[in-house]
Amino acid sequence: MKIHHNYDIIVIGGGPAGSTVATLVAEQGYHVLLLERATTPQFKIGESLIPATYWTFKRLGMLEKLRTSHFPQKYSVQFYSRSGKGSNPFYFFQTNPHESAVTWQVLRSEFDQMLLDNAKEKGVEVRRGVGVREVVFEGDTATGVVTKSVNGSRETLNATVIVDSTGQRSLIGRQLNLNTIEPNLKMASLFTHYEGGHRDEGIDEGATLILHTEEKDSWFWSIPLPYNRTSIGVVGELDYLLQNRRDADGRLDTQKIFNEELEKCTPLRQRLEGAKQLLPIQTTKDFSYRASRIAGNRWVLVGDAFGFLDPVYSTGLFLALKSGEMAADVIIEAFRKDDFSEAQLGSFGPAFVDGMEAFRKLVYAFYTKEFSFARFLSEYPEHQGGIVDILSGDVFRKDVTHIFPAMAKMCPFPSEVPLKSSA
Ligand SMILES: Cc1cc2nc3c(=O)[nH]c(=O)nc-3n(C[C@H](O)[C@H](O)[C@H](O)COP(=O)(O)OP(=O)(O)OC[C@H]3O[C@@H](n4cnc5c(N)ncnc54)[C@H](O)[C@@H]3O)c2cc1C
Repeated sequence: MKIHHNYDIIVIGGGPAGSTVATLVAEQGYHVLLLERATTPQFKIGESLIPATYWTFKRLGMLEKLRTSHFPQKYSVQFYSRSGKGSNPFYFFQTNPHESAVTWQVLRSEFDQMLLDNAKEKGVEVRRGVGVREVVFEGDTATGVVTKSVNGSRETLNATVIVDSTGQRSLIGRQLNLNTIEPNLKMASLFTHYEGGHRDEGIDEGATLILHTEEKDSWFWSIPLPYNRTSIGVVGELDYLLQNRRDADGRLDTQKIFNEELEKCTPLRQRLEGAKQLLPIQTTKDFSYRASRIAGNRWVLVGDAFGFLDPVYSTGLFLALKSGEMAADVIIEAFRKDDFSEAQLGSFGPAFVDGMEAFRKLVYAFYTKEFSFARFLSEYPEHQGGIVDILSGDVFRKDVTHIFPAMAKMCPFPSEVPLKSSA
């Protein structure tokens, strides 16, 4: 087994979080290796951006590439109640007259590759087809990674800092047993792509639609994509959507379940009349979790490798990009100070978790059956702006917490979960 000691940082995983941290650190002249196990760009779920991603794209030098891409522009999100009635769209420009109020719906295979190409342009050494089997620790300090390439060869690579951006694989989280599933969000999702189907016109053409089914037991997303495709997925509690839906012989027919849920969502069913389902139904579950720590000596977690909340407000990509950006800043500072301790590398954690917490409260409100945003806003119209700010992702740039005391009167919020440290 060969041993190399050449890298300042090794980033494990070439999704949006990994590309972001790698690009920003490499730009400062550090030697960055990014390892992505997939040999080619892959289909991934998570296709709708929110406006606050603009600021990370700006730092990454990605804005022009996105502007000239074929990704549909997203101006708003619109909610449909269980009765099939659509809310007025929440246009992000209502509270933000800046160009950042318009964002994009992305095909992930192309989007992730654009970010990786940009990382390469900024000096990152990107290796595809190399998976990391484990992170090597000496005591509680990360020192390197053991890799396995598609041809079966193994290597141990050492670096000063190891960044885990493996998404829901959550390599370090699993190795150190850090992850806890959000107790009241045991969810599952079934999803696919369609070709064709109805789209609204003008600036509403690229809107994300969030549609409840009749009994409010599940909800659908509809996300317009390039190539006349639309991403359609349904989300519900694990017990409701999967566990209690097995056939008499114990088989799970996910296509049948998807069709049954679509039957209960009249506005979406009508939009999909004549559209063609392009992919077999795919399934994911237990995706709402968080690690108890965000960093340790010489290691950092970013993106889904740290945690993921829920797809309802399309916050996953934003949090992946933002944590990548925040982690890059503390890593660059660590090199300047020659301090790679948990305290230094985890110093972005409390602010990051505070931002996640605002989304988390809104997610709990969404899943509280008795709660309705329409009713909340009719009682507290002064909080319309605060809600649009959160839906836009402005949780790190503005204080959005002022809406929560009023909201807490209408729905129970979970207690906050502070970060732990090894000390
Ligand atoms: C049902 C559902 C719907 C969603 N919808 C949305 C949405 O509309 N909008 C939104 O913003 N977010 C959405 N998300 C969330 C979004 O998909 C994620 O938050 C986002 O992809 C996280 O980016 P990441 O870079 O952290 O991880 P990923 O995008 O998962 O990237 C991780 C990368 O690491 C690689 N990797 C994994 N293990 C290894 C290893 N051992 N060695 C090397 N490489 C490895 C993987 O191949 C992958 O490329 C959704 C999530 C779910 C579950």
